[in-house]
Amino acid sequence: MKAAHPHAPAQAIASLWDSHHFSPLDKAHLRHQDIQSVLDEIAEYPAVTRQTIGYSCAGKSIERLSIGQGPLIILAWTQMHGDEPTATAAVLDWLKLLHLNASSQALALDADWTSLVTLHVIPMLNPDGAERHTRVNEQGIDINRDAKHLQTPEGRLLWQQVQTLKPDVAFNLHDQNPYYSAGETPYPATIAFLAPAFHPDKHVDAPRLRAKQLIACMADTISHWLPCHIGRYDDTYSLRSFGDNIAGTGASTILIESGAHPNDPHRQVARKMNVIGLQSALEALLGKLYQQKSLADYYRIPDNVEDGLVDIKFSRVTQRCGEHEYVADISVNVDKQGRATVKHIGDLSGQSGFTHVSAYQTTVQPIRTFQLDGPMVLTEAEYLALLQQGFSAFVGDRSQLDNQSILPVLVLPEPPAYSTLYPGAPAFWLMHDSEGKQRAVLNGKIVHL
Ligand SMILES: [Zn+2]
Repeated sequence: MKAAHPHAPAQAIASLWDSHHFSPLDKAHLRHQDIQSVLDEIAEYPAVTRQTIGYSCAGKSIERLSIGQGPLIILAWTQMHGDEPTATAAVLDWLKLLHLNASSQALALDADWTSLVTLHVIPMLNPDGAERHTRVNEQGIDINRDAKHLQTPEGRLLWQQVQTLKPDVAFNLHDQNPYYSAGETPYPATIAFLAPAFHPDKHVDAPRLRAKQLIACMADTISHWLPCHIGRYDDTYSLRSFGDNIAGTGASTILIESGAHPNDPHRQVARKMNVIGLQSALEALLGKLYQQKSLADYYRIPDNVEDGLVDIKFSRVTQRCGEHEYVADISVNVDKQGRATVKHIGDLSGQSGFTHVSAYQTTVQPIRTFQLDGPMVLTEAEYLALLQQGFSAFVGDRSQLDNQSILPVLVLPEPPAYSTLYPGAPAFWLMHDSEGKQRAVLNGKIVHL
């Protein structure tokens, strides 16, 4: 290792990433075809070998890129869940930056590091799920729950790689849903770590201690950019999962979950932080820097809190149930298809919204629906007039309504069973403030009437 300022090496990889990451991979989702030209480019790097190690259920190639010939074996795989692409871009970036370093020596790596380490990367273990944009594979199976039964070709392949390569350090790279917060804060966990348990008693042996120490190093480095956005996952043992089973082989196993960041729909912040984190783990291994970290350094990372965040939080909204008036918060989440639904109603003081709407002294109006009796052309002016009259949804045949406004409409097949909002209901409602000014919430978006 070169002697340097503690953050200097990370600054070097960060600025290399800024100028040289694969910009075509800046996408909301990555499929098999999206990475082929990048794999071709990486395969041309003199130090890299590319090997097709097998095929997915539907016959797509699964490849491994390797660099180095050293005795310390590192194995990283990504996108085992097809709809979790962030780390796929990150590991490909990382290989490119390691390649560029061979001539620039910009990184804090000794020139002979490839004689000390062999790094294997399997980008996109589940190309069929990537194609379908689903978590599961072509068989509909969650590969990460197939570590024991090995009924998926992709799971068998991963297990075979682990048996053959016998990694000392394993990186299991995923994306988490955007609603995890770093501790009980309003900050999304953009990166979350776990050193998975290999037994229900959560025993910490030497390899697991090293995984925790490496995570402490990675979190330390990343916190330079993201001081409030790093979480630590719960380590309940999961018998069926790969991370836990690979930890059981004696590999120091590290789960990294890429998460949301404000105004970052393609998760490019998490992508860059993966690269910085992986590089800092490599440097910590080569320089044995991880030995300076303790378990306390690992446990100091705040919990990765599930449902700590929602897309939109309306706080302190007045609602009515019959004659009874009450004040409650309403949270709304937007799914992959863009549908906004009510998530929770009540005291949501532990949850923060990516968007926050203060609705103090604002009253939700009872849900009223407009009956469609035949074909209807809906102009924006007509829609706004109906909203002002208190209609927030239509009832009838969706195909009869020709919505010519730019505003979303809700058409229900039959009248709703409730006149109040309810968890799971579409986020369409009307509300008015104490001065009588009306606002519509249409698919979670506020429209002033
Ligand atoms: Zn996952």
